[in-house]
Amino acid sequence: MEPCAECGAPMNPRSCDELFHALLALDHSRQAPWGPLHGVSVACFLLQHPSRLPSDDGAMAWALLRAYLDGGLDEVDQLVGQARRGNSHRVQSPPSRVARDAALPHRSAPRSGYSVTIEDVAVDGTFPAAEFTERVEAWATATVDAWSRGT
Ligand SMILES: [Zn+2]
Repeated sequence: MEPCAECGAPMNPRSCDELFHALLALDHSRQAPWGPLHGVSVACFLLQHPSRLPSDDGAMAWALLRAYLDGGLDEVDQLVGQARRGNSHRVQSPPSRVARDAALPHRSAPRSGYSVTIEDVAVDGTFPAAEFTERVEAWATATVDAWSRGT
């Protein structure tokens, strides 16, 4: 069976899609450690599967991952809060350090160059809670590394 054409993970015994749905189900339970990392997990998955990126071409996912690696979930919350405020046009806050230099690199998506994929984060397909946070962090690092590497 061919590996995933986008992230390079093996499709056997589970495809990336199946794993992503399992992860989303855990996220939506809103339980730790999955719930709080929902935004980070989705950003990793989308950037490793760019055909599913929303119409902003991954700018928000990229900014979110950079914020997470920079300052953890606090920084992510700030970023998301800013985006919400920005959308409502009520508060004009200056863009954060992260938001300013967080443009997604202009390049075509890396293929199969990821040292960590959803397959690794899933372990046996169940995304075990033990060390889930560490695995997501490694996933985020691998994603940003691959995208940051030369074209
Ligand atoms: Zn994949």
